[in-house]
Amino acid sequence: MIIKPKVRGFVCVTAHPTGCAAHIQEQIHHVMSKGSINHGPKKILVIGASTGYGLASRITAAFGSGAGSLGIFFERPSEDGRTATPGWYNSIAFTRAARAAGLYAENLNGDAFSTDIKQQALTIIARDMGPIDLVVYSLASPRRTHPRTGVVHKSVLKPLGAPYTNKTVDPDKGIVSEITIEPANEQEAADTVAVMGGEDWEMWIQALADAKLLAPGATSMAFSYLGPVHTWPIYKDGTIGRAKVDLERAARAIDAKLQAHGGGRAFISVNKALVTQASSAIPVVPLYISILYKIMKAQGTHEGCIEQMQRLFSTQLYANGRLNFDAEGRTRVDDWEMRPEVQAAISEIWPQVTTENLAQLTDITGYRAEFLKLFGFGLPGVNYDADVEPHVTF
Ligand code: NAD
Repeated sequence: MIIKPKVRGFVCVTAHPTGCAAHIQEQIHHVMSKGSINHGPKKILVIGASTGYGLASRITAAFGSGAGSLGIFFERPSEDGRTATPGWYNSIAFTRAARAAGLYAENLNGDAFSTDIKQQALTIIARDMGPIDLVVYSLASPRRTHPRTGVVHKSVLKPLGAPYTNKTVDPDKGIVSEITIEPANEQEAADTVAVMGGEDWEMWIQALADAKLLAPGATSMAFSYLGPVHTWPIYKDGTIGRAKVDLERAARAIDAKLQAHGGGRAFISVNKALVTQASSAIPVVPLYISILYKIMKAQGTHEGCIEQMQRLFSTQLYANGRLNFDAEGRTRVDDWEMRPEVQAAISEIWPQVTTENLAQLTDITGYRAEFLKLFGFGLPGVNYDADVEPHVTF
């Protein structure tokens, strides 16, 4: 099968297995080029391990400090005439590379919110790994079936309190337009907290603790985003921001539990805005990212998920007590994005952007290239005209 990108709105419905494998190799190469991470984790559980920040932290732990890993994700294998999702191909490529390097790597494809997947994970950890020293919680999901009530909660990306109007871009068509998003009602806000808040993270840690599968001194982290004033109504002050406040509540509760268990810790890392499947679905954010990339690339400070995670692990998490917390107890690898000169440049460009000058004022070309790369397209050295087998299994 010859596989080409088929973009539909903010998703690409095809993925390229060879391209996804090349993307994994690129990320492994980055981590290895930075040298080993002393005192890094040895046994890690990554919940949301197949794409974005979760995948990057798995690669960093494996190839930076030789960690064995169990990765949990929700991906679709190939079906007749249809490619798999990129996270499926990514996870296979990661697993092959890790095992070839002599590292333990196991995977569970299923609903991380369910009790069943948690039980299966505990069985694998008890059987193959022993107590875990790092738990990365990196889910981004549109829905959650609550394991106790059976209620299906759907998350929404909406402002709270009042409608929000701002510029946005359709990255595929290159059209800049104004969008107005009506505010969420209380039920939608509560549902978003149920999906993207911290309850499930706490359930994972409790399940691991009850099964005595957390190593003394274990660390756990989850990710958040704050961003600039341009996106606050839809992000920080919107439904997703409310869920992130709940994630911070969970971080404090988990931190207390882990501290009592051999001096462990739990915290939130605030990461940079990047093109991932999750962020491309948020209105306004793709326009912000296109401007941000333009400025940070010009300054030489641009990073992707793998650079962010490698920096977090090597300069904070495993840098012998150099974990720097902000006033709210979070680590910040959005620090370069939030520099005043970067944000001032964005504020200057923002009001000027139109469909006509999009290519000059923003890095929309870079945005599109990064987006396609998530699906395995545009990787150097991959022949996209060659016949490729879409059916790949672990
Ligand atoms: P992503 O879409 O790339 O990855 C999401 C992961 O969750 C995938 O591995 C997917 O398979 C898994 N997943 C989704 N639903 C699942 C389910 N029910 N069961 C098991 N696995 C499931 O997302 P991302 O952008 O890497 O986001 C990860 C975290 O980082 C989120 O908390 C997000 O808010 C945060 N974050 C993202 C950005 C950004 O700009 N992308 C910035 C800062 C923080």
